[in-house]
Amino acid sequence: MIIIDGAAGEGGGQVLRTALSLAMVTGQAFRIDNIRAGREKPGLMRQHLTAVQSAAAISGSTVDGAALGSSSLTFTPGRVRAGDYHFAIGTAGSTGLVLQTLLPALMLADGPSSLLLEGGTHNPHTPCFDFLAEVFLPLVNRMGPAVTAALDRPGFYPAGGGRIRVEIAPAAALRPLDLVERGTLLATDAVARVAGLDPVIARTELQVARDNLGWAEEHFRMEVLDPAWGPGNILLLTARYEGVTEMVAGFGERQVPAASLALNAARRLHGLMESGAAAGPYLADQLLLPLALAGGGRFTTVRPSRHTLTNIDTIGRFLDVPIGIEQQADGRHLVSVGRG
Ligand code: ATP
Repeated sequence: MIIIDGAAGEGGGQVLRTALSLAMVTGQAFRIDNIRAGREKPGLMRQHLTAVQSAAAISGSTVDGAALGSSSLTFTPGRVRAGDYHFAIGTAGSTGLVLQTLLPALMLADGPSSLLLEGGTHNPHTPCFDFLAEVFLPLVNRMGPAVTAALDRPGFYPAGGGRIRVEIAPAAALRPLDLVERGTLLATDAVARVAGLDPVIARTELQVARDNLGWAEEHFRMEVLDPAWGPGNILLLTARYEGVTEMVAGFGERQVPAASLALNAARRLHGLMESGAAAGPYLADQLLLPLALAGGGRFTTVRPSRHTLTNIDTIGRFLDVPIGIEQQADGRHLVSVGRG
């Protein structure tokens, strides 16, 4: 039994999700204590509880301690079963993070699966649907599986009510990914979406982003969604390179003026583009698990986040695959996975 301290490092939900994913893939049981001890409201929240319950459901696992607010649980994995599954978080908790938990097991399962996930699709501090569909999944697919995601309807935090469908055709094994260079810049675009909010918010965001990024007008688009899907607002700034797409999201929140949200997002994308790194800070922590399961791969990134460092530690509890980070002369950090 692997014993994990959920308070270590970042001390957030990712420690639990990575442990669930790797327990299912490797068949190793674990106990986690101090779940999300680093967070203001520690313990299992709805999103984490759904991740635990859905992981148990797809793998016939036994769980002890799966309750809202629980700070400890034991997960004894069974056998992963491909199939058609439907999981509802019941709040605006992130569907993307539930997917993050289930995907490693299902993309290595013995048959195709489909997932219908209900909850939030555009939440602060999580990968939004667009990031998953355009940034993360294309890289996973390059490693062998064929995973497609469709947005039935968006669910903005805190209202929720979103729904995504994911089709997963697994691979027998994952191929290593080599993402040292991102390649030529092919396209850039900015999309500001509002649902049930004044379109002037989106217009302001696009104007500020344009002033700061200097792209031509045709790169900017406003989308006014069905008000019933709101209230919600998001600004997505995307840079599409030959080898990777990177996306920065600014989530509209009460108390955050549209102009400062857009300025912040534009600065972040600009910094990422200037860095020359293939993976931004979020993509970096999310790529570690597939690369570790492939047994190898490399990518360049910006200064590693605490999420990245903590994820490396958690992965190391389950897999005997070395992961190293080295700063290069050009300032980029090279993450190397495996012995090759
Ligand atoms: P917590 O326990 O912090 O409430 P959580 O379950 O939301 O949290 P974290 O441990 O903080 O989880 O992990 C958040 C995940 O969301 C990480 O994989 C991170 O890369 C990803 N993420 C956060 N913000 C973004 C973003 N703007 N774009 C893409 N991915 C993001």
